[in-house]
Amino acid sequence: MDPITLEFSIPADDDGYILLQCGHCGEYFKLTAEDCENDDILRIVCPACGLESETYLTDDVIQLALTMADNYAMDLVNNMFKDLERKSRHNSNLQFKAGKKLKHEYENPLHSGIQALEEVTFPCCHHSAKIKPLLKMTGCYCPCCGVKNYEFE
Ligand SMILES: [Zn+2]
Ligand SMILES: [Zn+2]
Repeated sequence: MDPITLEFSIPADDDGYILLQCGHCGEYFKLTAEDCENDDILRIVCPACGLESETYLTDDVIQLALTMADNYAMDLVNNMFKDLERKSRHNSNLQFKAGKKLKHEYENPLHSGIQALEEVTFPCCHHSAKIKPLLKMTGCYCPCCGVKNYEFE
């Protein structure tokens, strides 16, 4: 069987930011879609703990991916049963009727984040991000270059 690719896109908010979550400390922050895809930024660090996370997918995104995979598997099963039913029609020795269809789980649409995050521009490299207001006061790491900033533009 061919490998199956399920695709979905993570929506950006009105300003073009995508919600990310640090795998180390669970901090939420947002980076522009542009920066997320920017090859010049070799690694993204978490503004709160300054570490590089292996994944920045939020729980919502992971949940959606799992639900989509489940639903896809259900489709396969449903189709298989339908196929069996159709084939068994021409065979008097074997009668097969597909039962109730397996119901899809609701695929939760992704929200681009309800957290109150404030937009800041980092003086170190002039990339901008959205971070928790508290981080703005205590200082935080630039997600794009890892420098700790205490003042923002
Ligand atoms: Zn972190
Ligand atoms: Zn920077």
